[in-house]
Amino acid sequence: MALFADKIRFFDTTLRDGEQTPGVSLSPEEKLSIARKLAEVGVDVVEVGSAAASEGERQALRLISGADIGVEICTYVRAVRQDIDYAADAGADSVHLVIPVSDLHIEKKMRKTRGEVFSMAMEAVTHAKERGLIVELSGEDASRADQGFVRHVFREGVLAGADRLCFCDTVGLLTPERALEIIPPLVLAPLSIHCHDDLGFALANTIAALRAGATCAHTTVNGLGERAGNTPFEELVMNLEILYGIKTGIATGELYSLSSLVSRLSGVPLPVNKAIVGEMAFTHESGIHAHGVLRDASTYEPVKPEVVGRRRRIVLGKHSGAASVAAALSERGYHPTDPQLKEIVQRIKQLGDEGKRVTDEDLLAITETVLQMETEPILKLRQFTVVSGNSVTPTASVTLQMKGDEVTGASIGTGPVDAAIEALRRSVADVADIRLEEYHVDAITGGTDALVDVTVKLSKDGKILTSRGASTDIIKASVEAVITGMNRLLREEDEIRRKDRC
Ligand code: MN
Repeated sequence: MALFADKIRFFDTTLRDGEQTPGVSLSPEEKLSIARKLAEVGVDVVEVGSAAASEGERQALRLISGADIGVEICTYVRAVRQDIDYAADAGADSVHLVIPVSDLHIEKKMRKTRGEVFSMAMEAVTHAKERGLIVELSGEDASRADQGFVRHVFREGVLAGADRLCFCDTVGLLTPERALEIIPPLVLAPLSIHCHDDLGFALANTIAALRAGATCAHTTVNGLGERAGNTPFEELVMNLEILYGIKTGIATGELYSLSSLVSRLSGVPLPVNKAIVGEMAFTHESGIHAHGVLRDASTYEPVKPEVVGRRRRIVLGKHSGAASVAAALSERGYHPTDPQLKEIVQRIKQLGDEGKRVTDEDLLAITETVLQMETEPILKLRQFTVVSGNSVTPTASVTLQMKGDEVTGASIGTGPVDAAIEALRRSVADVADIRLEEYHVDAITGGTDALVDVTVKLSKDGKILTSRGASTDIIKASVEAVITGMNRLLREEDEIRRKDRC
């Protein structure tokens, strides 16, 4: 059985193939911040766009090449002199030189013959070497090509000076079994494997190719990429580490922040149930499972959340058992008696049955009602004013009453809700650094007069809490959700002090 290479290399193509995701476009500065993070996490090569595509792409390439971030900077080129010159002039270290190798691509896309494409490839390799570039010669649509021709192009390419080779499963038609068969004869130089996920096999095919002699994997963060995307970097790293016992050298503790950065800048949200980085990947609700996890996390957590830079979350809902409710309460300093706990669980299930998501604020409100310890809120809203329109910058001011004092805050924002939330945050900035981590809005019914339900996730000193506000006015609902959450966060310490009482 083939073995993995001693050192598996990671060639990141988030900023090229990933950016080819329909609707995704990153500015040069955004690309630089992602490239820096990739370098920090430990990838070996960062592919930055196609130098020939636009002046913006070349600008990004110059910016990143000039930033000296400590990784090889590569760019995509066709077998065209001009592309290679652009790459060299922009300061790239290497080129990902892509040559169609399947008859389908050669005849239908290029309207050329194998011989013509072969000559173009050899000339391009020679020219790129003359321009001092590292060359990764890539066979496009190689999985549908005549493998004899692929081998011929690769062998002659290496003789012409190509430093590395790459097998592209351009439309995701490879299987792991076939990869084991066709990859070994192609290992004529260090070989990369580039897979697409059209049929959901990108990760499995990449691993099979790495077992069969490839030494480098092309990946994208979050599996971003054309159509169904590319092999997801974070999943490949964790599979190699956990299932194959390989030390990848990647800083896995940074995987989640890398994913979040790419998701935020690309505007492509992470699927909630995505492996490793999805919101639900380390969230437990079911009563039985949460109970197991609380006793020994390995019962239902094959990956420790902190290994990938995350934290476990136990959320409550209609499946919640007394154990998870008690654990959530104990974390916040409440220790109800058994009958009290039973009553709290009962009320939480009722909320869940009504189809509502149970926020931390709901849990605490229920608990305080059951324990009969309703207290005065620390913050009370006196007034808020928001100005918005097509010719003014959205601006908000708020006045709050805080333990007898009046505090005010004002801010501009990208919209009225953003301005109002930032004004609230600033009004309490002297006493607490409270941050908005997430904002979610649901319209309960259709129509512009609908009741909207706003859920916010706030954090203070690493503590995270969710709370909700509902109103027909979206700004009011948002302000209410944030103030309720702030009240809980500010009271956290009081509650912990109170824990011996209940
Ligand atoms: Mn691709």
